[in-house]
Amino acid sequence: MPVKPFQLFLLCLSLPLALRGQPATQSIPILIINHVTVIDATTSSPKLDMSVVIMGDRIRSITPYSHARRAANAVVVDARGKFLIAGLWDMHVHSLSQGQPDRFFPLFVANGVTGIRDLGGDISLEHIARLKKETSEGSRLGPEIYAAGPILEGEHRFWPFSLSVKDPAEAHRAVSELTNGGADFLKVYNTLSRETYLAIASEAKAARIPFVGHIPNSVTPAEASDLGQKSIEHLWGIPLYLSSEPEQLKKMSAEADNADDPKTARDLFYKVNQAILASYDSKKADALFEKFVHNSTWQTPTLVVLRSYASIHNPRLREDPRNAYIADDLRKFWESTGGVPDLRNDDIQLRLFAHDIEIVRAMHSFGVPLLAGTDTPNPYTYPGFSLHEELQLLVSAGLSPREALRTATLRAAEFLGIQRDFGSVETGKVANLVLLDANPADDIRNTEKIRAVILRGKFLSREALEELLENEKRSLPGQKTRR
Ligand SMILES: [Zn+2]
Repeated sequence: MPVKPFQLFLLCLSLPLALRGQPATQSIPILIINHVTVIDATTSSPKLDMSVVIMGDRIRSITPYSHARRAANAVVVDARGKFLIAGLWDMHVHSLSQGQPDRFFPLFVANGVTGIRDLGGDISLEHIARLKKETSEGSRLGPEIYAAGPILEGEHRFWPFSLSVKDPAEAHRAVSELTNGGADFLKVYNTLSRETYLAIASEAKAARIPFVGHIPNSVTPAEASDLGQKSIEHLWGIPLYLSSEPEQLKKMSAEADNADDPKTARDLFYKVNQAILASYDSKKADALFEKFVHNSTWQTPTLVVLRSYASIHNPRLREDPRNAYIADDLRKFWESTGGVPDLRNDDIQLRLFAHDIEIVRAMHSFGVPLLAGTDTPNPYTYPGFSLHEELQLLVSAGLSPREALRTATLRAAEFLGIQRDFGSVETGKVANLVLLDANPADDIRNTEKIRAVILRGKFLSREALEELLENEKRSLPGQKTRR
């Protein structure tokens, strides 16, 4: 169940930090965070001993504490030794299917994820509009929502709730239907035919709506970039394209897909994967990454889900204590993925994941714009929790902790075109903030040391966040997932 506003108010009273003063009695509540170090997500250096004044849902001022004025009726938080960062965005989630907002939204908030980009579920655009309204008004606890609505798929859909688009005429109808229906962007999928994908690209351009997602087999990542696809998810098709013989490997993959006997399929896939690892063409990679920079084609590598799939037979995944937050039927689905363990295949999957990390490292050194996303709730990607793992993986791919942090804050807001209101700790912006016990610029793992979350100006203490998490463990209905 979502937490009701009155419950929130009660939760806010049990603050772990020393609170002085009275809760605001005037119509616009004032929250002041004193003595805090502000890490604002721009390139400027951390600001020590600041006083951050929040009025209603906006940051009103950020001044050195020594210059700060006192305000009557303000709730004052003494945040000595704490660090304030912008609320985090998970830029690749699937949390808008039936039952999921109730389950997942509190987990996002409890983990400092105050914004999501949702790439497809079975909830209608009308229902999504209601959820946006409820979260922005505060009648439902949840993150800011940017959503695709139904996924655009080809004639043979992978997901039953996707919109099947089989030719350019249908592409025209689908793009105008989704655009008029309030979709923030379009999600394209690998099942689309080449001609339908090309039609969606030109219709989207005409309708001025971004399109993002996977890439059909019949389209290369370079073409997708030139056609204006705004983001590519999961490094879709990129490792294969960067091998020296992509067309031959695509043929072998198709043969594997159509093979009757599972062993033949496994052997063929193994060969494809071996060839991907053995024939990385770095000149081609340089040209592709230059193109991505030139065309502003963003990448959401979703390393955390790639790692889950690469290590799907690792028994440690099933022992993860965060499984307690996951409904039985979703967890059973997770446990059923990956098929039969196969040492040879499991080993090459891990090597492919290491290769993915190196691709992200190369992209980053070229300046390809990156976003932090998890693909939750795909196997062993936990709503809210896993975004922190994604940041750690981005650091392992060569980003500095502050660069990684920006992929989930300012860069996310820039991608969505909402940097005027979101993405950094700056005066005038919406007060979606996370207060940390330790400096994330020193060690990215410190983003997990959450002392409090401020959601549209509402202060949620550690105790309040713990209560949200506890609530989630109770009564867990089943759900499905997608990628
Ligand atoms: Zn996805």
